[in-house]
Amino acid sequence: MNRTYTQDTIKKGGKKVCVKGWVAGRRDHGKIIFLDLRDERGVLQVVVTPQANQAYEQAGRCRSEWVIEIEGTVQKRPDSMVQKDMATGSVELIADQVNILSEAKTPPFALDTSGYEIGEEKRLQYRYLDLRRERLQKNIRERSRIVHFFRQKLLEQGFVEIETPLLTKSTPEGARDFLVPSRLSPGTFYALPQSPQQYKQLLQVAGFERYFQLARALRDEDPRGDRQAEHTQLDVEMSFVDREDVLSLIEALYRELVSSLFPQKNMAGDPFPRLTYKEAMEKYGTDKPDLRKNKEDKDELAFVFVTDFPAFEWDEKGKRWDATHNPFSRSQAKSVEELKTNPKNVLSHQYDLALNGFEIAGGSLREYRPDMLEAALEIMGHSKEQARERFGHMLEAVEYGVPPHGGFAGGVDRLCAILFNEPNIREVIAFPKTGDNRDLMMQAPDSVSEDQLLELHLSLRKNKNAS
Ligand code: ASP
Repeated sequence: MNRTYTQDTIKKGGKKVCVKGWVAGRRDHGKIIFLDLRDERGVLQVVVTPQANQAYEQAGRCRSEWVIEIEGTVQKRPDSMVQKDMATGSVELIADQVNILSEAKTPPFALDTSGYEIGEEKRLQYRYLDLRRERLQKNIRERSRIVHFFRQKLLEQGFVEIETPLLTKSTPEGARDFLVPSRLSPGTFYALPQSPQQYKQLLQVAGFERYFQLARALRDEDPRGDRQAEHTQLDVEMSFVDREDVLSLIEALYRELVSSLFPQKNMAGDPFPRLTYKEAMEKYGTDKPDLRKNKEDKDELAFVFVTDFPAFEWDEKGKRWDATHNPFSRSQAKSVEELKTNPKNVLSHQYDLALNGFEIAGGSLREYRPDMLEAALEIMGHSKEQARERFGHMLEAVEYGVPPHGGFAGGVDRLCAILFNEPNIREVIAFPKTGDNRDLMMQAPDSVSEDQLLELHLSLRKNKNAS
């Protein structure tokens, strides 16, 4: 018999069906056994009576989280017995046959609660069980709808989805790189991308005028706040655009996302308010101000654009100018001379989108003029040779006919956490890591064998204090 999902039983009164799922609970009432059967779409009450011999015997064995299939007849409940708070509350299944597909040990923690009350280390260690709880099921499914929305909207507007490499060369976004040793080129390393920045710009040189990707960005940062070593970003780049084109695309995308998927939310500001970096700092002391009127209102969303960031910031440790965002942002300087003589005061065509006090997207128009790009790299302390060595491909590419271009990247994890009113991004990621980058379920990072090290031409330096 074909499988019926629990939620579809409400249309099948009087019919024979087969349902499959997990035992969410069992109650023995006198002679009758009640099972709550949970599948990915809901929960259904199953009634097992002693008349159904085989079913009764098997149901008696069932424990929480066992996986079973049940054949039986859907029966409408009398009006007075309808369970209004349950999607399948108007019916129940009278079991004829119960088959146990797999048994389960008692889970290490409750699965029918929100989970906030359980120690997070335990939850992450048994994430495959933790994910069974209703709240996380909902978060991960809603996240999928958000990603689908972005993809669909951009495809409709002629964007092309292109995957860029994970094994690549360092691209500076201000964090440390994760490195991967190369077996075939001894002594050299790939860097995992901190963002697809250079590739997406090179795709503009290549003539893909509207690119997007739901990209993984990897940054080896020290434990700091609610961050993950890898995060997902909606990465977008467009040719022949000015700042207005990019900002209006961003605004339409986020506005429509909220109004179509989260109609209960109220968005303050139409259009989204805009502040320059200077205004934001002077007025709010931060470049991601929280403009909500009532911070207790969980449905209030206050988007705000922050624009015109300084192009460079002074790095006291390195005693040099660094790009505020990344070195490829287009500066507002009119000439190489202006750029070089006044790096402190030069602004860039960079913008961020903040939501309720968090930066949820950032981007810029890019430097496509060869002399200006070279000058920017020089200000950041790269000698001509170093610049050629690190960014030779970019410096070369800008000499082959580059359209003015720009784009942005929007963080998916933080956006979901805000929209779902979750206190941290780990609640919206299927398999998150701890603050210090450990995967407690897979036990990663892990040591590797001597043979693997040998193949990679690596040897581990002994810790001085180790025996
Ligand atoms: N590459 C930037 C980032 O990942 C975003 C952008 O400028 O498009 O933050």
